[in-house]
Amino acid sequence: MQVLLWRYFAIFTVLVIAAVALVCFSVLGNAYSAQARDRISTIGTGLSVLIDGKTSQFTGEVSGEMGRYAFTDGVNVYLIDERGSADIYTGALPSDWTDIVGAMNSAVDGWTQGRAVVYGSSSMLNYVSCVTFNQSEHYLLVRYPMHVVNESVRTMQIYIVIIAAVAIVLSFVVSYMLAQRISRPIRNISDTATRMAKGDYSVQFASAEFEEIASLSESLNYAKDEIKKSDDFQRELLANVSHDLRTPLTMIKAYASMVREISGDDPAKREKHLQVIIDEADRLTGLVNDILNASKVSAGLSELNKKVFNLTEFIYGIMNKFDYLQETSGYKFFVDIDPDLYTVADEEKIYQVIYNLVSNAVNYTGADKCVYVSLKDCPQTSRIKFAVRDTGKGISDEEKQHIWDRYYRSKDAHARPVKGTGLGLNIVKIILQAHNFDFGVNSAKGEGSTFYVDFPEVSSTPAR
Ligand code: ADP
Repeated sequence: MQVLLWRYFAIFTVLVIAAVALVCFSVLGNAYSAQARDRISTIGTGLSVLIDGKTSQFTGEVSGEMGRYAFTDGVNVYLIDERGSADIYTGALPSDWTDIVGAMNSAVDGWTQGRAVVYGSSSMLNYVSCVTFNQSEHYLLVRYPMHVVNESVRTMQIYIVIIAAVAIVLSFVVSYMLAQRISRPIRNISDTATRMAKGDYSVQFASAEFEEIASLSESLNYAKDEIKKSDDFQRELLANVSHDLRTPLTMIKAYASMVREISGDDPAKREKHLQVIIDEADRLTGLVNDILNASKVSAGLSELNKKVFNLTEFIYGIMNKFDYLQETSGYKFFVDIDPDLYTVADEEKIYQVIYNLVSNAVNYTGADKCVYVSLKDCPQTSRIKFAVRDTGKGISDEEKQHIWDRYYRSKDAHARPVKGTGLGLNIVKIILQAHNFDFGVNSAKGEGSTFYVDFPEVSSTPAR
């Protein structure tokens, strides 16, 4: 890329410089010869006016004026009679005088009062006009040797070539530096990306002075962090899941062996051991479900399938599933639910949300094993507030920022040892964000926690 950029920059500048030099080159020559033509015409016209109609008495004045022009402008002036002899002239008569007169005659094409012609070659410019002097026909010839002009033009052209050459060399250097400056950050990004691809997530995409590249670096850093998170997540998940799976499996195996060898004939003990097996199997199922749900939700496999449903009935339905805990483990559920509230959402996904929140309350509530569930209508905001409160250790402000993260699990000891995956609240968050529902937690250390979700309220069930 650097070479390509360099090449483009260099070609571009060379073209621009060459074009400018070419224009200067041609304009310069033309401008100088046009200027010389103007000057010689001005001199010729001035002298013609002075000479025309004068008698030989004015010879001194005419010759003086001709001499002045010869001196100041470097021209040669001749006043020639009709036979071709020079009456008055500046300097010496050139050796090729006859040729000069011949060329003049053919340029002016016969004497006509007042006619003036400019003619010449690249080396000599001539002005001739027909005037009357001393009552006879005369030609006024002004000659301007162009070699002075040509030399100046040539000198200027040499300067232009030198300046153009220097500018081209400079442009090569500058474009090389510029190309390097642009390509360096891109090369850095590419090197960093290669290192990252090899699994080194400690790399940092460096910012650059160009806004676009800086924002590319920023996006890549973000992508890198996300990939790292997902990588760490997978790694941790695998480690923790295999650990978490192994524990209940070991228990199941141990208790099954106990039932076979020891407690098979003792109904009370057998019942107790079988219950442990059932509990551990349930935990395994919950674990596997959580993992499957998390990967399904985060892979975005599941589209939202929204419909209107009776939220009151729905929450009662879920709470019924927790009834067995009242009987088997002494949990107390306090349910305060307003009647006949309808909302619109993906029922199946909301089931996961409520189920996860209530399960967490059960898992993390205090020694009194109380869980408070409420569903309240807020007509002024057309919202239905679902809340589940527990009496556990609560969540500190610092922790609150992380509990919704994938795989976050508090290091705190709770009333009961809880075997979770740290996925539950992340699933809740993804689902509720997809619905655009307000949700959150109010909690303080030692004061229990209240998780809430605001559902939109709709009037009743329309035809499905
Ligand atoms: P887990 O499977 O560990 O319960 P979650 O994603 O459901 O995973 O919860 C993440 C963390 O949030 C938990 O490890 C716990 O520390 C904290 N947490 C969740 N619910 C509660 C609650 N009701 N009371 C206290 N802490 C909670």
